Amino acid sequence: MRDNTWLLSRLDYLWSKHFADINQPNRVFIRFGRFARLRFGSIMLDRKSDSTYITITGMFQDVKIPLEVVDHTIAHELCHYTHGFSSPHVRLHKYPHEGGVIKKEMERRGMTYLYKTYRLWIRGYRKELKTYYRRRRI
Ligand SMILES: [Zn+2]
Repeated sequence: MRDNTWLLSRLDYLWSKHFADINQPNRVFIRFGRFARLRFGSIMLDRKSDSTYITITGMFQDVKIPLEVVDHTIAHELCHYTHGFSSPHVRLHKYPHEGGVIKKEMERRGMTYLYKTYRLWIRGYRKELKTYYRRRRI
């Protein structure tokens, strides 16, 4: 079952497998949020508690969504954390998505396999989404 405990286990797995050199100076929470069709993940830092919150779309609780797509989204947010966005780490870039930094970071950390599955999935998903919105207009 894909619940918040499962999501935390994916975060732990990805962190130890691909981000083992990145220390965790603050608390990091992860949870499923609302069912968002276009925004799959987000990361924010709560300055009051100095904690980082990662939110993953509730849509990914569906087991039809490939595991690699969920992992890709978590890894994407972990790249932001690594680059000092919504985290206590030193900020490495001016903007979080500057010049394909996320893709480069994922490749450098051996996550090309996640990126590839995500690219294939998103292609089909965009088509599905178009059909969905077309139907709703009628
Ligand atoms: Zn991002």
